[in-house]
Amino acid sequence: MSSYDISGKTAIVTGASSGIGAATARALREAGVRVAGGARRVEKLDTDVRLELDVTDRASSERFVDEAVQQLGGVDILFNNAGLALGRYPFDESNEEDEHTVFETNVNGLVRMTRLCLPHLRDGGHIVNMGSVAGRQAYENGATYITSKFAVRGFTYALREDLLGRPIRITTVDAGLVDTEFSVVRFKGDTQKAAAVYQGIDALSAEDIADCIMWALTRPWHVNVDEIVVKARNQASGGRILRDS
Ligand code: NAP
Repeated sequence: MSSYDISGKTAIVTGASSGIGAATARALREAGVRVAGGARRVEKLDTDVRLELDVTDRASSERFVDEAVQQLGGVDILFNNAGLALGRYPFDESNEEDEHTVFETNVNGLVRMTRLCLPHLRDGGHIVNMGSVAGRQAYENGATYITSKFAVRGFTYALREDLLGRPIRITTVDAGLVDTEFSVVRFKGDTQKAAAVYQGIDALSAEDIADCIMWALTRPWHVNVDEIVVKARNQASGGRILRDS
């Protein structure tokens, strides 16, 4: 079985300014893919085309896709990666603002970006959605994020049905703990709380996830990797992590 050659193709990566998005953009570029990266912190982008993007904002998303498509001359790969969690509390302590931001980013933003990009995705294309183990099994004190990632998983499979017959592949990557800025964002800048999340466990790196994505993208054309579930060896589930004391 020969692998699928992605060199010379183009990609859009949302949330390319840090963590998994940045690592995947790097891996794609190393494989000869031209990448348009989007994020709110445009100054942190290191991609061929660097554009401001707020996936929660309709006008920003439309502007981004128009400009990216024009500069890339068409799109082959869409990596829907932009996402976040806010807080780690029992649901009865939740608030409207956090819920709104998480759903708007992780769900509506991802759906919107997919809808806007689909008309431009060339035959032979691939959509990769960044899911999470939180989208497969609940754990305590993460209801909003968990709900959003279950939605990503549902959307991925719904899209798989609707795209059947169109030569586009689709994959969701459901990762466990990955050591990125994710926890600093989740704990709203509290770096001590964020560091504790990764203490005593050899967590996954953003590069580990990029590696999984590159594997899915380069399978022979007749193979669709529907989902990848990947966790650190010492993480059995969202809620069960073995830490060195
Ligand atoms: P990260 O380092 O915080 O990166 C998140 C990225 O999303 C940043 O580039 C951020 O860019 C972007 N983003 C956030 N809101 C955005 C918006 N409204 N518009 C455009 N871009 C936005 O965290 P990460 O771990 O790499 O997270 C990437 C994805 O992986 C997320 O979907 C997350 O849910 C998922 N994930 C993470 C883990 C983990 O343990 N880290 C596990 C499973 C899944 P700006 O702030 O510059 O806009």
